[in-house]
Amino acid sequence: MATAETFNLGFIGAGKMAESIARGVSKSGLLPPSYISTAHRSQHRRDAFSSFGVKVFHHNIEVVEASDVIILSVKPQVVKEVLLELSPLLSEDKLLVSVAAGIKLKDLQEWAGHGRLIRVMPNTPSAVGEAASVMTLGEKASKEDEKRIGSLFGAIGKIWIANEKCFDAVTGLSGSGPAYIYIAIEAMADGGVAAGLPRDLAFNLASQTVLGAAAMAMKSGKHPAQLKDEVASPAGTTIAGVRELENGGFRAALINAVVAAANRSSTLS
Ligand code: NAD
Repeated sequence: MATAETFNLGFIGAGKMAESIARGVSKSGLLPPSYISTAHRSQHRRDAFSSFGVKVFHHNIEVVEASDVIILSVKPQVVKEVLLELSPLLSEDKLLVSVAAGIKLKDLQEWAGHGRLIRVMPNTPSAVGEAASVMTLGEKASKEDEKRIGSLFGAIGKIWIANEKCFDAVTGLSGSGPAYIYIAIEAMADGGVAAGLPRDLAFNLASQTVLGAAAMAMKSGKHPAQLKDEVASPAGTTIAGVRELENGGFRAALINAVVAAANRSSTLS
């Protein structure tokens, strides 16, 4: 039975995002998987959740009935239809959390029929406890709700609060950002192979280098430009590589990628 610290958590939309949050939450020990539920028609998706102990129902209605906190994790295009269908069951007794990109609190409130809502933009590294998430509170969400969702997403990574106006930019940066870095890892590993390394070693070195650089950026207290300057000695190897990145428009490509994804997010609502 749910206590003040534990609660029943339900996912409407048993896709990749829901799975990575559910896996992260159960791995962290914040909630046992038996407190988590979802529903899906496809056996493949059902198996993905039941394999780590999550209850899998046949219908969304059963998920809502079983949950104190409901995470809406369907694609943005179907959020309205799903909420309108479930709205008779969505009372203020149940905190509704949406992770759908581009769908605003005011629309969620209208379709759900109440304002006890929190909008969160997480990312898929939640599956390994390293999500970067941002939340914004609906008008009826309480301090307790903020705390509960802060610890839920805090159990699967880091979470910040921001004004809803920032959400398209957040989506473009941290929501979509893992894909940019996967490409960087793949390309760095290809570079290693091109320079003579075995594929496995190249891939592991590229991945650990990204992890290490991110840890330095988060923990050293230094500006990334300073960290870069510190590893670029005169006429050295690193500055030769940096020069090629600048020639290839690396900075501009990343800036444009974030802005393009943010713009796309603003067209989804
Ligand atoms: P996904 O396609 O993997 O998952 C969506 C799931 O919802 C699918 O399994 C689909 O079958 C199911 N579904 C469709 N209609 C349904 C209905 N009526 N009732 C119940 N389930 C239904 O997509 P995803 O990548 O997991 O994205 C889900 C949400 O998370 C999106 O709104 C997206 O904007 C948001 N999000 C995703 C990421 C990401 O990196 N994938 C990051 C941040 C936010």
